[in-house]
Order: sequence, then structure tokens, then C-alpha cells
Amino acid sequence: MIQRRNYGKIAIQEEDVLNYLQSNKKSSSKSNAKVFSSDIKIRIGELKNIAIDLFQPKGIFYIFKQNELPFRECFAEAERVALAIVTIGASLPFEVSRLMNSGEYVDGVVLDAFGSAGVERVADKMNDEINEVVRSRKLDYSKRFSPGYCSWSVKDQKIIFDRLPAEEIGVSLSDGYMMHPIKSVSFAINIGSQIKKSKWESRCKTCEDRGQCTYRM
Ligand code: SF4
Repeated sequence: MIQRRNYGKIAIQEEDVLNYLQSNKKSSSKSNAKVFSSDIKIRIGELKNIAIDLFQPKGIFYIFKQNELPFRECFAEAERVALAIVTIGASLPFEVSRLMNSGEYVDGVVLDAFGSAGVERVADKMNDEINEVVRSRKLDYSKRFSPGYCSWSVKDQKIIFDRLPAEEIGVSLSDGYMMHPIKSVSFAINIGSQIKKSKWESRCKTCEDRGQCTYRM
């Protein structure tokens, strides 16, 4: 049976938000440099409750037999594959747009980082729940991985969205494979008796993106 979750309130570490802001700062721009000239840590503390109130954390997952999915290298060594979609909903991204459009860039950028940290936290919660189910079946599980990463084509978002009723948690996929609301994450987890020893699970050792990847194992 497809599993649906509505998580209510989720806790966020202010340090995670700061990490997202720092990674954004590295990847550019004048406006971010401006953001960092203010006392960002204080603003993170002040916006925390607003962000948490805007979260609408939901998720959906199902564990498929491997042969119910099209063949892909990333699934090759799995017996089963859990597919999942999580989101923090549309309210926070909407508020970020409103702040940016009205020139409140600092608050917009900070709130956006709360959204990034928040959706990863929802993914962690669903990931933990899937792992618990798998452990109860005495099987092994991989780290989660998403279309667009680890040499898995972003076009395979379709594999996930064709099989899960994402509209029930308010998530849709564009023709360009972008998820809406933007703070949504889709992922897969390989399941089987020897997953930890699989070639796929040791993929980071030879990955060209290893240097800049925060998900590497
Ligand atoms: S380092 Fe690992 S997790 Fe990151 S993209 Fe490469 S294979 Fe994927």
C-alpha cells in the first residue's frame, strides 16, 4: 500500500540553515555578499518560528519489486526499490518570492535556506521510516539517491512521478522535470540482502563530482 505522511511540525537546526547560506555564498553573487554583511545568525534566530509555521511537511512512498521498474544501472543490484517524494509545501516558497519582490533580500535568502534545510529534514524523516520497514524485514538498504545526481538522469523523475500519486501531497512535475513546489525532493533507496556491498553503493569512490558533493559517502 502506498504510504502517505503529514508530519506536522518539524525541528530545524539553525546551523543547517547557516550551512545552506554558506554554500550559496560560495557559488556566487553580489546579493549574497550583501546578505552576509548583516548579522545573519541573529536574523536566522528571528525567522526560525516564521519558517517553521510556513512548513507543510508531507511525504509519500512505496516499496517496489525491482522488476516492476524499468532497468536502470542504479537499481541493477537491488531486490526492491523504495521510491519517495517529500515536500515542505508552497507557503514558504511563496513567502520567499514575496520578500524578494518587495526588496527584502536578506529575509528572502534566509527563509529560502530554511526551506532547503526543512525539505532535507522531511526527506530524513521519510528515509528513517523506510529504513525501519526494511530492517524489520531483515534486509539491507542503501543511502538515498535522487534523479539528476550520481549519474542518474533527471528525466527519470518520470519513473517516480508515474508511480506515486504526488498530487495528493501537492507536488507536480514540469515538462523540464522540475518539481513544484520548488522545495520538494524525490528519491530512491535500494533494498536487498547485499546492498551495502553493491557496486552502486560504492559509487562515490570513483565519482568526478566527489569534491563538491555534500551527499558523498
Ligand atoms: S559523490 Fe557520491 S553521492 Fe555525490 S554525486 Fe558522486 S556518486 Fe553521488
